[in-house]
Amino acid sequence: MSILVTGGAGYIGSHTCIELLNAGYEIVVVDNFFNSKPEALKRITEITKKSFSFYQADLLDKTALEKVFSENNIDAVIHFAGLKAVNESIKIPLHYYHNNVTGTLILCEIMKKYNIKKLIFSSSANVYGRPKYVPVTEDSSLGPINPYGRTKLIIEEILNDLYISDHNWSISLLRYFNPIGAHESGKIGEDPNDIPNNLMPYINQVAIGKREKVNIFGKDYNTHDGTGVRDYIHVVDLAKGHLKALEMVLGTTGIDVFNLGTGVGYSVLDLIKSYENITSQKIPYGFTQRRAGDIDKCYADTTKANEKLGWKAAKNLEDMCYDSWKWQKNNPNGYRE
Ligand code: NAD
Ligand code: UDP
Repeated sequence: MSILVTGGAGYIGSHTCIELLNAGYEIVVVDNFFNSKPEALKRITEITKKSFSFYQADLLDKTALEKVFSENNIDAVIHFAGLKAVNESIKIPLHYYHNNVTGTLILCEIMKKYNIKKLIFSSSANVYGRPKYVPVTEDSSLGPINPYGRTKLIIEEILNDLYISDHNWSISLLRYFNPIGAHESGKIGEDPNDIPNNLMPYINQVAIGKREKVNIFGKDYNTHDGTGVRDYIHVVDLAKGHLKALEMVLGTTGIDVFNLGTGVGYSVLDLIKSYENITSQKIPYGFTQRRAGDIDKCYADTTKANEKLGWKAAKNLEDMCYDSWKWQKNNPNGYRE
């Protein structure tokens, strides 16, 4: 069984490649290294002791992508490749729409041509925008509030239309909440190119001494301690969710959507305290203004994934903090020498 993983050198993709290889799948990875490094692929082999095919290609390059399909007998596709920075998407929306939406259209056209109709797509809790209630169920109203989130919703809609046009497709739309943590080996993890936008990589850089303190965006949210609440999920739990979704798409046809989170909300201060406790690193912080577009709380109702996929996140906040720190400590400069 051969699985094409687009964006397989990236943060979530690389962790999923490990789970796929460990479960006995063959994989073919496509990535343009826009937001990742070749070293991540070497580490996947180091951890799993298994080799796999890799193509350095852009999804927008139809000829290059078609070569991947013509040279491999692919059974299903897990589609991670995409741009993901919310703030950047506000500054360069056309680039985001083109990369994420056009990239997916090209991928689906080629899949259709090669009669490969099994697809798992990386969506995001961003499609819910400002949730009217928490926990958020898959039926909650949708209304992304930034271009990044809109690319995800548009792609979900395109994939729904694709299924309506041809019931032989089998598609799983996975709405991730806040993935953090790293593989327990400490060899792969999240490696931001620039100043981290997200909380955990920022905390990691404070812990390693690259940044002075965490700037907490707002202290007057409607939450238990005034700081923003999110559903943090260990990236390895998330990766395992893809294997469950894969079993489902391989065995059926249809289209379905799942929240992948833990179902528990933690605040910024909860995360910092847990990180300090488990790693014994002091994390200085200060409060600044709210970040534009931020919401007070967002966490998932994961009942559907628990029941239909037979999947449940197993790792707790301390595991997430410990593994994040282990990755950062072992790789102070990420994948760079
Ligand atoms: P990432 O940036 O680490 O990985 C994405 C990978 O895709 C990168 O290796 C990048 O080089 C590659 N890529 C991007 N555009 C490409 C293109 N046109 N052609 C080929 N390769 C391309 O991001 P991640 O955190 O691993 O996220 C994976 C997916 O999950 C993304 O689609 C993201 O939007 C989605 N997601 C991420 C989060 C999160 O917080 N990390 C949350 C919800 C959803
Ligand atoms: N956050 C923060 N300082 C930072 C980065 C994030 O206080 O440097 C807060 C942010 O306001 C939110 C939470 O941490 O409440 C998670 O933010 P992140 O960007 O990681 O995820 P998202 O907002 O996309 O859910």
